[in-house]
Amino acid sequence: MASSTGEASNDKEVGSDLRKKREDFEFGKILGEGSYSTVLLATDKVSKKLYAMKILSKHHIVKEKKVPYVKREKDVLVKINHPFFVKLFFTFQDKENLYYGLSLAEKGEILDYIRRVGSFDEHGSQFYSAEIILALEYLHSLDIIHRDLKPENILLNNEMHIQITDFGTAKILEDGEERANSFVGTAEYVSPELLQSKVAYKSSDIWALGCILYQLLSGRPPFHAPNEYLCFQKITKLEYMFPDGFPDHAKDLISKILILAPDKRIGCEQMGGYQPLKTHKFYTGIDWAKLPETQPPQILPYLPAKSKDDQALTSDYNIMNDRPLSDDFDERFLSAFGLGDPDNPLKSSSSASITSNRETKLERQAKESPWHQFVNNELIVKSGLVDKRKGLFSKRRQLILTDAPRLYYVDPVAMELKGEIPWNHRMHVELKNWRIFFVHTPDRTYYLDDPTGHSQQWVNTITEWIERARSS
Ligand code: ATP
Repeated sequence: MASSTGEASNDKEVGSDLRKKREDFEFGKILGEGSYSTVLLATDKVSKKLYAMKILSKHHIVKEKKVPYVKREKDVLVKINHPFFVKLFFTFQDKENLYYGLSLAEKGEILDYIRRVGSFDEHGSQFYSAEIILALEYLHSLDIIHRDLKPENILLNNEMHIQITDFGTAKILEDGEERANSFVGTAEYVSPELLQSKVAYKSSDIWALGCILYQLLSGRPPFHAPNEYLCFQKITKLEYMFPDGFPDHAKDLISKILILAPDKRIGCEQMGGYQPLKTHKFYTGIDWAKLPETQPPQILPYLPAKSKDDQALTSDYNIMNDRPLSDDFDERFLSAFGLGDPDNPLKSSSSASITSNRETKLERQAKESPWHQFVNNELIVKSGLVDKRKGLFSKRRQLILTDAPRLYYVDPVAMELKGEIPWNHRMHVELKNWRIFFVHTPDRTYYLDDPTGHSQQWVNTITEWIERARSS
């Protein structure tokens, strides 16, 4: 696999390299910041190779009593030499800092991609979870448990292959040891044995894999709650559900992973090791041996179709916040302003009339519209209920387009402003079918479902306002 850091180094290169020093590198942008470190893009001035340079402040580490954490991370990194893990090429130090020269994962965290598209389609989820499986198989063969596997710790390199990182809480098992004591991990991916007995096994990483696969496909981890306590309760009671549209083979696999007893999970040593996991139906077609050289699939959202007639996209997913439709208010409201022609909201109110009557309309809007409080005294040009979809989950929201132009969304039950689709001159709107339309912004695509089936109107109106904003 090609890498911007060139050839993989051998282990002899790793270790405190007295020859290297800060001045040998040109430092670029910040790639990320951890609790005890800053990671910078660094170019070796001579070889021109790129690295992710992790810089840890000695004073900070000692003050925060994180010496064992830092030591453990290095011990593990030194042992690892596999394409699906971040690689440590060298370390050095000066009076203030420790420096770790790591392979560069240019594309950042897989979590950002899940957020950007909502959730991955089956092929993408299959591919990326397969890479995680190969990585875990390797890690466990070295008797190392990661203990904090989660999408934030799965980085992507320039070729979009995974680079697992963050070994600060990893555990190297001693001879014959099968478990690690002490509590570590992240609430949503933590295994029940860690919560109940404060022990971690290799299969605790497999539990996290199950949570990640669920999240890849649905957009959310399976045990999701407003706070850690409730999340832990759900985990120990194995309380999770599959949203509508979740693929059957993945369901079967995840229910064989998310099992309370660590020795009953598919993939664990007691259940025959990795083979049964790798040969599960969900992984049909995966060429395990060639995975590191396989071109990763394009990351596409998972938007399962409802029926054969519905070729593009449908709304066949679970509406978590379902409630009866009561969107007629908006049409009444908009008609009262001459804005309410459902086929063409702008037809009955040309831009000239909007401008000339703006003040009057605003006054009336302030008195009569429940949405006025959310829009910074801008005139509402279109508003209606939509299901804002993220992965297989969605939330009902009042989408409000104003003449700023801005696109707000409000929780219509709590009557709370939830956010805004950031208006950008590069954004565009795409119609998928009579209900579904996309608002593409540079950072994210918003998947919206108009339950009244008038997505075309949204597309027309938003497009018109994009064009107006561009030409003004
Ligand atoms: P903490 O230790 O506090 O949990 P962390 O493990 O995320 O934080 P770091 O390993 O210091 O902290 O990484 C900080 C951030 O830097 C990461 O979240 C990631 O976005 C970025 N980063 C880390 N390693 C690399 C790398 N090899 N290539 C590109 N970016 C990286």
